[in-house]
Amino acid sequence: MSADFAVTDLTRVRRGAARARYDRATVFAILDEGLVCHIAHVTPDGRPVVLPTAYGRIGDTLYVHGSTASRMLGAGVAGPVCVTVTLLDGLVVSRSAFHHSMNYRSVVVFGTARVVDDPDEKDAALVALVEHVVPGRTGDTRPPNRRELAATTVLALTVDEASAKVRTGPPVEEPADEGLPYWAGVLPMRLTPLAPVADPLVPSGLAPPAYLQSYRRPAGHSSSGLSHFS
Ligand SMILES: Cc1cc2nc3c(=O)[nH]c(=O)nc-3n(C[C@H](O)[C@H](O)[C@H](O)COP(=O)(O)OP(=O)(O)OC[C@H]3O[C@@H](n4cnc5c(N)ncnc54)[C@H](O)[C@@H]3O)c2cc1C
Repeated sequence: MSADFAVTDLTRVRRGAARARYDRATVFAILDEGLVCHIAHVTPDGRPVVLPTAYGRIGDTLYVHGSTASRMLGAGVAGPVCVTVTLLDGLVVSRSAFHHSMNYRSVVVFGTARVVDDPDEKDAALVALVEHVVPGRTGDTRPPNRRELAATTVLALTVDEASAKVRTGPPVEEPADEGLPYWAGVLPMRLTPLAPVADPLVPSGLAPPAYLQSYRRPAGHSSSGLSHFS
């Protein structure tokens, strides 16, 4: 397997090309840190729809799941899909309104989703979904029963075509604006968990598991060039 995704006509970043990344390490690190993806597909009557959902990853395959009654999961298999994951790293505050921007790491994946019929793959996908959101949780929870499995559709999307884009650093200013008397810079942003809140039925004295008390998404990312948002 190549370390990089092939750059295709679909995935070649035109605007802000210096921010493009195609290496699997960067793409997968962003996918693994994210919690929510957005899936775009075209409905059978030709309308584009973008829906947010949870996901998991095993190797080059992304998995999403939902009710068998979900229109997204039904219509999504009918044609090509595009999945995005975005990590917001900072608000970029410029001396001009025009050059305000954001620091981010984002991934765009193209492919065709398929329904997972194989029971073993479905089990593994559901474990991956739970482990993606709360690593360590599957050992601490009742597995899905036959009725729950029958009510759940799992879609797989092989990541064949993917691009990442990464913006870091301060605002890009027009030279004529550099002396303006306004503060400029970056307000770093991070997803930070607060203290776990116990469900009322949790017996007193049962502490939250360590993996929740120390919950963090993976930290750190690669850097890249600077310019106005693009
Ligand atoms: C948090 C955030 C805020 C942004 N704010 C703005 C904004 O305000 N204005 C603005 O113009 N742009 C913004 N962008 C960048 C935006 O996502 C597009 O990259 C940009 O608008 C160029 O669009 P385009 O259609 O010309 O892309 P093109 O460069 O033509 O896209 C070609 C291909 O490049 C890849 N690609 C493009 N963008 C991304 C991406 N973000 N991540 C991964 N792959 C990508 C895809 O595979 C795409 O099919 C923002 C991005 C993020 C993540």
